[in-house]
Amino acid sequence: MTKVYTNAHIFTGEGEIENGYIRFSDEIIGVGKMEHYTKQVEDEEADLRGHFIVPGFIDVHSHGGYGVDNMDADAGKISDMTYKMLEEGITSYFPTTMTQSDENIEAALKAIDKAASMNPMIQGIHVEGPFISKKFKGAQPEEYIRVAQLDTLKKWQELSGERIRLITYAPETGEVSEFEEYCQDNDIILSAGHSGATYKQLKESKATHITHLFNGQLGLHHREIGVSGYGLLEDGVSVEMIVDGFHISEEMVKLAYKTKGADGIQLITDAMRAKGYPEGESELGGQKVIVKDKQARLSNGSLAGSVLTFIDAFKNMMTFTGCSMLEAVKMSSFNQAKEFNLASKGQLNPSFDADMVVLDEDLTVKQTILGGNINEFN
Ligand code: FE
Repeated sequence: MTKVYTNAHIFTGEGEIENGYIRFSDEIIGVGKMEHYTKQVEDEEADLRGHFIVPGFIDVHSHGGYGVDNMDADAGKISDMTYKMLEEGITSYFPTTMTQSDENIEAALKAIDKAASMNPMIQGIHVEGPFISKKFKGAQPEEYIRVAQLDTLKKWQELSGERIRLITYAPETGEVSEFEEYCQDNDIILSAGHSGATYKQLKESKATHITHLFNGQLGLHHREIGVSGYGLLEDGVSVEMIVDGFHISEEMVKLAYKTKGADGIQLITDAMRAKGYPEGESELGGQKVIVKDKQARLSNGSLAGSVLTFIDAFKNMMTFTGCSMLEAVKMSSFNQAKEFNLASKGQLNPSFDADMVVLDEDLTVKQTILGGNINEFN
């Protein structure tokens, strides 16, 4: 049996079909306009009139949710938590680690590797810190911050089953050229973040990605455009954004969208343990966090990750900037799949994985399909 969804508004990644069909098993078999559709004997049809179908979201920066943090280093819990993200429309996930002791980071990397071996959603690991700037630490615990060490990263890459694909680092904190070369040779994208680097320092670095643009970095100044300005200005540099309405003001989100354009932006959640749980006390990197009014903060008031769901980020981006849904799709999956060479993800075209989200007209997630398996939500 193959499934066919008919009469849907389908976003294929770079394009859209207003009244279309999509035929799939574990991968996409065909997609096109309804006028070109003919039912095959093996087809099991469902009419999705009034619904949108978009590629499954790809979150490259998130520490956890649903009571679990990757730093708990529990493979079973990490895998279960990842499946809960289906309800937000996420089908690909890069578990993100935090600035911690070597022992804790190593335990987390091993656990994520184990989780990834049993969970098809995990597509890589994002190592956030500890090679960052103390001055721009945000919610990363200062005592474990240090200068970039190539030997340590090599060891971690091995322990993780070669799954590290993204590293947040501060290029200005030391001699990093060998470290950067190793990353480039090993498919690890270099992301400037928790960094006070100047534009000139970044031009000399090999960073091609910016961790949570505007947060935890040297911001825009008219004589020194810093990390944020570098991210906005340079073609070939992708920027992550936490569009929850708290990490970046609506106006700044709009300014970034107008200057950078949808092709250079990747929505992330940067979610922490408390996402999906009632508000109250939680924890991040061994520090107490209070979640109130959809904001997670340390006792000093610093934002400590988010409790943002991906579908809310998707909706907020359209509300704040007036961007088209096609552009929101690009910022939610297509761009990530391109940058990280996820060859079968981020598009709903033949031979791509059947990873997709069915949204109703209010953009509520009704179904998330992972490798052809349908998960229904209310
Ligand atoms: Fe961060």
